[in-house]
Amino acid sequence: MIKSGFIGVGLVLAVMGTCAQAEDQWTVLKCGSVLDVENKKTLQNQQVLIKNDTITKIGTDVQAPGGAKVVDLSKSVCLPGLMDMHAHLVTDLTSATLDQASPTQSYGYNALMAMRNAQTLLSVGFTTIRVPGDMGYYYPDIEVRNAINRGEYQGPRMLVAPHAISALGGHGDYNSYAPDLPHKVLGPLIADGPEEIRKAVREEIKYGADWIKVMASGGVMSQHDDPEVAAYSPEEFKAFADEAHRYKKKITAHAHGDAAIRAAVEAGFDSIEHATMMEEATAKLMAKQGTYYIPTLYVLDWILDRGATGGISANNYEKAQLVGTMHSDSVKMAYKHNIKILIGSDPIFPMKEAIKEFQALAKRIPDNWYVLQAGTINSAEMLGLKDKIGSIVVGKKADIVATPASPIDDISNIEKVSFVMKSGDVVRNDS
Ligand SMILES: [Zn+2]
Repeated sequence: MIKSGFIGVGLVLAVMGTCAQAEDQWTVLKCGSVLDVENKKTLQNQQVLIKNDTITKIGTDVQAPGGAKVVDLSKSVCLPGLMDMHAHLVTDLTSATLDQASPTQSYGYNALMAMRNAQTLLSVGFTTIRVPGDMGYYYPDIEVRNAINRGEYQGPRMLVAPHAISALGGHGDYNSYAPDLPHKVLGPLIADGPEEIRKAVREEIKYGADWIKVMASGGVMSQHDDPEVAAYSPEEFKAFADEAHRYKKKITAHAHGDAAIRAAVEAGFDSIEHATMMEEATAKLMAKQGTYYIPTLYVLDWILDRGATGGISANNYEKAQLVGTMHSDSVKMAYKHNIKILIGSDPIFPMKEAIKEFQALAKRIPDNWYVLQAGTINSAEMLGLKDKIGSIVVGKKADIVATPASPIDDISNIEKVSFVMKSGDVVRNDS
């Protein structure tokens, strides 16, 4: 999916010089219905007029300029472009744990894999993704984001935390290697103590980070680290949050046990990933502070399924069972306390399955409007982009997808996206 015409258009504009005025591109989407996710309403027979990348009119009878391209979606339901807030692009763990897989992947391989995976996410309906740290030592996701932003490749809008900053021996370190190898094997970004932490945050920002990601507790698919233990001291958590916010960046924590969740929330982190073993007092604090929650439910279902058939190591399966049992309770508690829960798939599995996170959340919270908001308008709000994306509203970017049947009637309909538009460009149209 290289964008054809990119080089040609660039040349023409260069030749025409300063008096060149690109012609406006008008598109009308004739939607059978539109889902208004902010007001939880289904609007019938809507036409959406788009000028270049922006929605300019919506209504039952919209006058379009002559020459406007018409897309007939009259048998489809139009909804805002979907958002995945936990989309690793180079963390495929279908056949290995974190520290087995990562050292076998070169930077070149990762860049190619990241681009392919970003495009796969776009094709299933995710027009915006947040990368919450990725494997490897370099910055493939940053290069992929930049190439998409320059218009050279099709792909989703991306906000990137390049690495998951980890304590020595933590979830982001590579812990399976013998200590007496000629060169010590460390994870991509290990930082201990406030000084190193501040420097690590600055290093991420230096190379283009939009977000900072921290491994606040141990994890499941890694060796020797404990999901129940907080990986940093309160002073270290504070150093992370202060440094990220001082540079006007947002910060998120991978955290399973309550100690780590609590410490990150108290330090002022913007969001928490997983939070599988959250206690009620912490949930209340998150609600009070407006901390967003990305539970990543489908991935644990996937790990538990594979573990039962021997597809993952006994140690990791044991950890998955420990966190899995309490995960649904944490999610229901968060819902009860009005914490904003967001869609995040944590794709360490084949990328196309990321869309199944919607169904995994609906299984725990049977409120399809809420689940749809989790993957559209509420994600946009966390990203600070609510005025640009997240709903089909005049003035916002034309990030629009369509499905043959409404996900409000049955959330699994969202897995059948047949039309994708990002910033006014049609990426896919099977209808
Ligand atoms: Zn993850």
